[in-house]
Amino acid sequence: MALLAGKTIVIMGIANRRSIGWGVAEAAHRHGARLVLTYRSDRAGEQIHKLCSESFPETPVTVVQCDVANDDSVEQAFDVIADKHGCIDGVVHSIAHANVEDLQGEFVATSREGFTFATDVSAYSLVAVARAARKLMTEGGSIATMSYLGAERAVPNYNVMGVAKAALESCVRYLANDLGKDAIRVNAVSAGPIRTLAAKGVRGFNDVLHAVEERAPLRRNVSAEEVGDVTAFLMSDLSRGLTGEVLHVDAGYHIIGM
Ligand code: NAD
Repeated sequence: MALLAGKTIVIMGIANRRSIGWGVAEAAHRHGARLVLTYRSDRAGEQIHKLCSESFPETPVTVVQCDVANDDSVEQAFDVIADKHGCIDGVVHSIAHANVEDLQGEFVATSREGFTFATDVSAYSLVAVARAARKLMTEGGSIATMSYLGAERAVPNYNVMGVAKAALESCVRYLANDLGKDAIRVNAVSAGPIRTLAAKGVRGFNDVLHAVEERAPLRRNVSAEEVGDVTAFLMSDLSRGLTGEVLHVDAGYHIIGM
C-alpha cells in the first residue's frame, strides 16, 4: 500500500516548479496522497493549475488561495478545505518572505519594520496555520515546515531570515508540545540551499551552493525532490514517533566544523 494512501495533505507555498513545495507535492502524489495546494498570488495560482494539469492530469487537486500574513485569509482557506474534505491529515508550510534589502550587508542594519515583516510571514504564520489546521485534524495529523541552517549559525546575508527561522524552529517545539495531546506532530526540515525564487533574494547565494558542494559530507547539494521525500516521510505513519524535531536534509553540511 502507498505510504500516504488515504491521507489528505495540504501544501502551502508553491510559486513555481522550482519551489520546494512543488518537490513535496510531487513526492506526496507519488506516495498516494490527496493533495490540497494553497497559493498567495494569482500568478502562483495559475502556475499551480498548469503544473497539476501537466504532472497529475488524472488526479483531482484542490487549489485554494491563502495569504498567511492575514488571519482571515488563513481561516477562510481552511474553511474552504473543511467544506471540501472534512478532515485533513497533514500540512506542509513552505513559506517565507523578507525585504530584499534585509538579505544583504549587516544584520545590525535591519529595520524594525523589516524584522517584524520577516518574522510575521515566516514564523508566526506557522502558528496561525497550525491553529486553523488543528480543527480539521480530527484523527491526528502531521505538520511540517521548512527551515535553514541560518537559524543556528550566522550565515552571511541570511540575516533577518536566520532570526525568523530560529523563531520558526522554536514555534515547532512549542506547537509540538501543545498539539501532541491531539495526536498532531509538528516538525521542521532544515533544507540545504536550493536555487528557487526565494533563494534569489539572498545575496551571494551561489557562494553558499559552492561551499556545500566542496565541504558537505556528500560533496553535493540537495534537490527539492530529496526534501520532498523526507517531508513525505514526516507526513506518513513511518514517522509516528517523531515530533518537535528539526531534520537536516543538507547532504550533511551542518555537521562540518569549518
Ligand atoms: P519559493 O519562492 O518557491 O517559495 C516561497 C513561497 O512562500 C512562495 O510560494 C510564496 O508565494 C510564499 N509566500 C510568501 N509570502 C506569503 C504569504 N504572505 N502568504 C502565503 N504564501 C506566501 O522558495 P522556496 O525556496 O521553495 O521556499 C520555501 C521554504 O523553504 C521557505 O520557508 C524557505 O525559507 C525554505 N528554505 C529554502 C531554502 C532554499 O535554499 N531555497 C533552504 C532552506 C529552507
